[in-house]
Amino acid sequence: MLDSTRDADSLFGRLALDPALLPGARAAAARFECRVTPEMLGAAGRGAEDPVLRQFLPAAAELEEVPGFVADPVGDLAAARSPGLLQKYAGRALLVTTAACAVHCRYCFRRHFPYVGQTAARDGWQGALAQLAASPDVAEVILSGGDPLMLSDERLAALWDGLAAIPQVVRLRVHTRMPTAVPERVTPALLALLRRPRFASSVVVHVNHAAELAPGPVAALRALRGTGVALLNQSVLLRGVNDDADALCALSERLFAAGALPYYLHLLDPVAGAAHFAVDEAVGRRLLAQMRARLPGYLVPRLVRESPGQTGKTPVAC
Ligand code: SF4
Repeated sequence: MLDSTRDADSLFGRLALDPALLPGARAAAARFECRVTPEMLGAAGRGAEDPVLRQFLPAAAELEEVPGFVADPVGDLAAARSPGLLQKYAGRALLVTTAACAVHCRYCFRRHFPYVGQTAARDGWQGALAQLAASPDVAEVILSGGDPLMLSDERLAALWDGLAAIPQVVRLRVHTRMPTAVPERVTPALLALLRRPRFASSVVVHVNHAAELAPGPVAALRALRGTGVALLNQSVLLRGVNDDADALCALSERLFAAGALPYYLHLLDPVAGAAHFAVDEAVGRRLLAQMRARLPGYLVPRLVRESPGQTGKTPVAC
């Protein structure tokens, strides 16, 4: 069992947080379970407003109903071609490999996703693999979730083998927060899997603040990069976490030093329970302009939003 703090009371006791916030945290955690790993707690500073802790701390604000913030903000359910297989964009398909994550990010766009019956693992991958084999247009498969690195190396290898038998699948992408949440998950067996030459592979990690890049996560990212995969980062622009130019510039610089390129900066998907994290698009555009003035172009992520029914992520003009 993964080492994690999984209830609000433990979190408040461990971090000596203001007890006045505890009832709201308990109520929020009853809707979306609290989960945070020792690595992320170690990266957090003091107080409920710490930019790392804020991402994982259940809060009363999650209980507010805000117009426009909905259960499925990116149209996942409409994109399901079979249980656990989503296709929104040409040439790419996404596998919901597991419901589990090492950490529960309070702003997660899948916080209401009905994982029961909706993961591709439920029948040993057979349905999803058959669907992909019958999809000559799909050249890239994205392993998502939940977090695909919550699966064992053995189960991942079995999935890898199944995908390798589908000739048209030439690119494999892994979306994961594990290298920073649980850096020891980057095992020799995982690295060997990523080194297999069958696919052009990429790993897209999820880091929102430079403080998450402590020595353990940095070593994990460098090990991933050492396999030769493209190592990219996607962040979410979050109020109180990274909504200032200093934080975003520091994040880009630390990511690059660890071997990862900043890829996307997402505007928040309007998921119910996360409105308190939203940052105005105009602020996002201003922050990107400030980054551009301070950093080389390759360290400035693309500011994007995801809208249901579009042919890809929508770039936000800056
Ligand atoms: S790790 Fe990713 S999928 Fe899991 S809760 Fe966080 S944002 Fe959601």
